[in-house]
Amino acid sequence: MLIVLKESITADQIEEITERVRESGLTPGLVPGASRSAITVTGNTGVVVVPDIEELPGVLRVIRVTKPYRLATLEGTEGKHSVFQIGEAQVGSSNAWFVAGPCSVDEPERLMRTAHKLKEIGAQALRGGAFKPRTNPYAFQGHGEDGLKLLAEARNQTKLPIVTEAMDPSQLDLVEKYADVVQIGARNMQNYSLLKRAGQARIPVLLKRGLSATLDELLNAAEYILAEGNDQVILCERGVRTFGDHCRFMLDVAAIPVLKSLTHLPVIVDPSHPAGTRRLVDPLARAAVAAGADGLIVEVHPEPEHALSDAQQALRFNDVIQLADTARQIASVLNRSFGADASQG
Ligand code: PEP
Ligand code: MN
Repeated sequence: MLIVLKESITADQIEEITERVRESGLTPGLVPGASRSAITVTGNTGVVVVPDIEELPGVLRVIRVTKPYRLATLEGTEGKHSVFQIGEAQVGSSNAWFVAGPCSVDEPERLMRTAHKLKEIGAQALRGGAFKPRTNPYAFQGHGEDGLKLLAEARNQTKLPIVTEAMDPSQLDLVEKYADVVQIGARNMQNYSLLKRAGQARIPVLLKRGLSATLDELLNAAEYILAEGNDQVILCERGVRTFGDHCRFMLDVAAIPVLKSLTHLPVIVDPSHPAGTRRLVDPLARAAVAAGADGLIVEVHPEPEHALSDAQQALRFNDVIQLADTARQIASVLNRSFGADASQG
């Protein structure tokens, strides 16, 4: 921590500040400047806490250096990014993870058809919601456990790991039974009892950024999961609320490199929800891969006219084939790859 002092500060006030720092068990160090001085605070093992330091006379500003998210920070791994094995994919490696599937699981035959097609084109995990967070309480809420059973059947047939959402701790019990990765949706990024429960889960967590969450808030949410002992957290940028109304959410492309500079956790992008409409998904996906995303999670439906949620943004098979092809080309420029080799399965 660095305490920047006012130009008008007196010797007594400096003494009071340094004394307060010492009382907190920390070491103050005066750094004199030509017009303005500062006091460094060292000796801390975690976040520095000097009660009410901002309020003392003579203090202009307090700059905090140590991050409150000590498990999520990149400093904790000495700059090494984490890689998690999920199915056959190495998430966080130079191979960008390719996850796709319907917004919600609806009809069995359509889900199986989707899973087989995605496997064929190189997807490495199947997404699909069985518990859906809907803005309107009368909208389709998901098939619940029946939906999870269908996802497990799709995994059985294709060997694709399953990514699916839980909205509360009791749903997480079920998701853990059937799925390979639990998604915590944007609306639940700060649901702390859910985050703690996800921290006790034995499967990796895909944590989506809240609709208006800062990166600090996202990393603190990840810290809740890590602090409970689950070290496999994948962050997902999915667009935030702004004044713009030309797309559903504003994809924050800058968040990708900034998060990668702050945390060792993999950072993937959902281009579907910020797009809100099919034709915008591909360009947003391209931007994400170009900016260094560790993967994409994309909504796909064989017959969007029959989709029970997010129909307008669902890619048809032809669209997702195109998206994967372009993503592969962009990834290769960056010495990366995207997804599994097509036609493996
Ligand atoms: C979803 O993945 O279908 C979803 C609801 O996403 P988000 O939480 O990002 O809105
Ligand atoms: Mn959706």
